[in-house]
Amino acid sequence: PLPSIAQRLRNLNERQLDAVKMIDGPLLVLAGAGSGKTSVITTKIAYLIQTCGFKANSIVAVTFTNKAAREMKERVVGMLSKQESRGLSISTFHTLGLNILRKEYRKAGLKEGFTLFDAQDSLSLIKEILDKEFNGQTDSAAYCQSTVSNWKNDLTTPQEAITNADTEEFLLAAQVYAQYQRYLRAYNAVDFDDLILLPVSLLMADEALRDKWQKKVRYLLVDECQDTNASQYELIRLLAGFRRCFTLVGDDDQSIYAWRGARPENLERLSTDYPNLKLVKLEQNYRSTKTILKAANTLIANNPHIYDKALWSDLGEGDPIRVMVTRNEDAEAERVAAEIQSRHLRHEIPYRDFAILYRGNHQARLIEIKLQAYRIPYKMNGGTSFFSRAEIKDLMGYLRLLVNPDDDNAFLRIVNLPRREIGPATLEKVGNLAAQRNISLFEASSYRELEESVSGRPLKSLQDFHHWMSTLRQRLEGASPVPIIEQMIFDMDYYSWIQEQSSSTKMAERRIENVRFLLESIQRMMESAWEEDETAGLDQAISKLLLIDMLERQEEEEDEDKVQLLTLHASKGLEYPHVFLIGCEEELLPHRNSIENDDIEEERRLAYVGITRAKRTLCITLAAKRRQYGEEIDCLPSRFLDELPEEDLVWEGRGDEADSVKKERGKASLSALKAMLNS
Ligand code: ATP
Ligand code: MG
Repeated sequence: PLPSIAQRLRNLNERQLDAVKMIDGPLLVLAGAGSGKTSVITTKIAYLIQTCGFKANSIVAVTFTNKAAREMKERVVGMLSKQESRGLSISTFHTLGLNILRKEYRKAGLKEGFTLFDAQDSLSLIKEILDKEFNGQTDSAAYCQSTVSNWKNDLTTPQEAITNADTEEFLLAAQVYAQYQRYLRAYNAVDFDDLILLPVSLLMADEALRDKWQKKVRYLLVDECQDTNASQYELIRLLAGFRRCFTLVGDDDQSIYAWRGARPENLERLSTDYPNLKLVKLEQNYRSTKTILKAANTLIANNPHIYDKALWSDLGEGDPIRVMVTRNEDAEAERVAAEIQSRHLRHEIPYRDFAILYRGNHQARLIEIKLQAYRIPYKMNGGTSFFSRAEIKDLMGYLRLLVNPDDDNAFLRIVNLPRREIGPATLEKVGNLAAQRNISLFEASSYRELEESVSGRPLKSLQDFHHWMSTLRQRLEGASPVPIIEQMIFDMDYYSWIQEQSSSTKMAERRIENVRFLLESIQRMMESAWEEDETAGLDQAISKLLLIDMLERQEEEEDEDKVQLLTLHASKGLEYPHVFLIGCEEELLPHRNSIENDDIEEERRLAYVGITRAKRTLCITLAAKRRQYGEEIDCLPSRFLDELPEEDLVWEGRGDEADSVKKERGKASLSALKAMLNS
């Protein structure tokens, strides 16, 4: 049986209890890492449902990453019966936005089955625009993409961007922005940022709609609110509405997404926007040993603070923090792997209790190799996404075109794959016709007029393709999609194509396995519609799949004993008994770009997030030399090491260097160490 809500509440401290029971107005819980903020949210959801009689589908909870949303869901579902949790929405901001858009797409000028563009899709669209309409200035594509994204996150319209552009570069980006939005609509597509921007614009402009959603969402909870950007903040405001019943929790010291437009200032703005805002602070940390917590507190004290926090723990001193200096990056990876294996064997610590955290994904490569060499099972988070694999991108292209024939990008990706003798010259003719008639490429490929410019096999191929896809589309209506997709795969002999494209049988098998996994996931999504009132369609399954990292979903189902590898950014909100923080060097952490841009504070918060993931032991590693662009360079220990309490650090290095370091610890030793490593 599930523990009763009374029991759950007894587990909380007094302040947490206050935060749970405050349900009438706006509430902000502001507290440091591991103080039970997420626990407040999960318990509060159960409390709202079980004690206050809220319906699960009137509660919306939002957090920052898919992984965090999943963990939160698990915690909540563990407290509720199946019946009680039906229709509960715990998701990321983007999934919430997508769910709103799925219901209101017509109002946003979209048609059924609209496509979700990923970053790569939107980059190629921007390139296309620059190429066609701005004299081929495709070099500016990446710049335009990030600038447009920033504008969208700040709720700046193309018109405003054009008016305010004070440099030529800005003006170009602003003009591209305007075209980009037009093209997106023509493709019946939205990009990632639109998932928030469009719901916000709709809710702002349409009072009846706003009313409807504010009635539907009776209570709103947001975790990690320090990382909300302007458009996300606006979405919260619009949904909370006049009732203003919400709980936001966050920690300004863990704001690590400034590059995505995140605004810790939103925390301050809250008290202006909601004068009756209640503030609860939590100060007891239930996660880490005193030593780990002291290190985190000492480090973050170097940043200026909006609110002062005094975090304490009564979990005992625990082990000192180990700092391992190694010869080079290979030795670093080797040390970490050896260390994990020996502790696993000697102390029977399960692999899943270890996490290896790093600043950049590229650092994981060597670690992976060494873990494999030691036969240590591991799982990597946020690595190469399932969706960036060619076989998946291609099949998704087919699925996208199936549900949205206006999706020209998808059409271009797959029309000649497997080969159908439809080359660039033919496609150009199709493109011309589509432009003349203002129709999609797919539609144009069946037009009679095409016979004036295209003939022979290419023409026949195009017509066959169009006919085949149209038939599949028709069959899709009201039917279960997976058998139809299987038929499509069979018709085009997709598996043979994959074999042809693979360099080995093994690789081909793995790719086919991936395709099967995609089909299974679609099947599963069809079976579990997100909400009762929602009819599951292939188009919904597809856009949801695009949003959710499939690797994560795959792993969700296996509860395997594996070492966890993840970036510092991805580790937010999570906790592990034993943490390795690797690559603690200048230019890596703090990252070189941040040093150049004088943005050390954000990097310090990142280090703070890393340290506070650890429950029992923390081990920091750094290399004296590291290869970079094929050249071996000398590394300096990170300045953040200087900011940790020396008395709690135990330095371990190789041979004599380590000895001499041990002999004279203290501030001076660090500079000595630096000098030594440099010599
Ligand atoms: P972060 O800032 O890293 O997201 P958080 O403030 O959300 O941390 P939680 O993850 O909710 O903190 O809690 C940290 C740990 O402390 C969890 O393992 C949780 O189960 C435990 N915990 C929370 N509240 C209590 C409590 N009152 N008594 C005992 N343990 C608690
Ligand atoms: Mg949390």
